[in-house]
Amino acid sequence: MHTSEQITLAHLPSGVPIQTTVHTYGAGSPTIYVQAAQHGREINGTEVLRRLHERLTDKTVELDGTVIAVPVADPLTFDRVSYTTPEALDSVNHNMNRCWPGDFEGSLHERMTASLWAYAGQADAIVDLHTGSLSMLTHTVYLDGDTDCQRLAKAFGTDLLLAEAAGDTADTEWTERDFGGKLRVAATRRNIPSITPELAHNKQLVESAIDIGVKGMVAVLTEWGLIDGEVPEWDGTIARNHLGRIRADQSGLFQPATAAVVGSDVESGEYLGDVYHPATYDHLQTVHADRDGIIYSVTEEATVTAGNTLVGVAERIEWLRWYVYSSSVIIGVPLSRGLREIPVADRSNRLNVFEDSSRIARVDCFVGGF
Ligand SMILES: [Zn+2]
Repeated sequence: MHTSEQITLAHLPSGVPIQTTVHTYGAGSPTIYVQAAQHGREINGTEVLRRLHERLTDKTVELDGTVIAVPVADPLTFDRVSYTTPEALDSVNHNMNRCWPGDFEGSLHERMTASLWAYAGQADAIVDLHTGSLSMLTHTVYLDGDTDCQRLAKAFGTDLLLAEAAGDTADTEWTERDFGGKLRVAATRRNIPSITPELAHNKQLVESAIDIGVKGMVAVLTEWGLIDGEVPEWDGTIARNHLGRIRADQSGLFQPATAAVVGSDVESGEYLGDVYHPATYDHLQTVHADRDGIIYSVTEEATVTAGNTLVGVAERIEWLRWYVYSSSVIIGVPLSRGLREIPVADRSNRLNVFEDSSRIARVDCFVGGF
């Protein structure tokens, strides 16, 4: 069963209503809420939801629960192909994703988020689809230490998961940038497991990113029992610190090193590029990794202003990967202490991989020798 409704999120100063479409599929619990394009230029999530719509309205699909989908969460930024709204419309919260769960008496964006929270706040799980830049590795963000959110993130299935610290355990930048008002954080604090997939690329519909998003949504609905099927076992990397950013000390032109590629492992101190004065040719900065980790973003624009993020590096969480080679031989390797995965001559011999971020690896079952 599918229904859709036009709802009014708030009104512009002229009195013109800001409206969007809310789709509802199925009935009963559990309820999964998913939205896209609250940053309006991040349109791959919108296309993910159109394709999910095709699947969910297929007569052969029986939904055991409810899916609520909002493909254009912020029509204002969607129409401007922008990340935020102009100050004239909301001088308090120009970024919609800083004021959840909203306020019907508040600023424009607070009213809009309050209107959507009427749906999201009733859900059993929330997926807030975003996209990064062209040079950002696809990843999924969830609240560090929250096992339900981690389960949701693993079901969505991107290779890289970023466990973001929050509140007291986060750094000052987290608080200063009002990250507590993100939909994911506001919902998690109200015990609704929530994730933010950051599909790569914005402004363009990119097939690879859309494909990851559609598969991720289907897997989430499967994991939460709305549709039948098996969720593929997740076998990726969990890293920490969404804010691991190496910045420009000086304004100029940034020449990235060949090692500065999204998805690459780097070690603290590793050379990642240089910043030059474009006119005098003076060398202004040698850019180094400030931590061991995995590169998840590299700036798209070579012309940088002091303070701009040049490279984002996420720290791997302390975790062990255990390889079961036979019923009696188990080898555990801590990946984040400078030790790398042990070379395996024949990867097909890897029978089971279990991992855990709690430093205590679990071996759930043994598979006989081979
Ligand atoms: Zn976004």
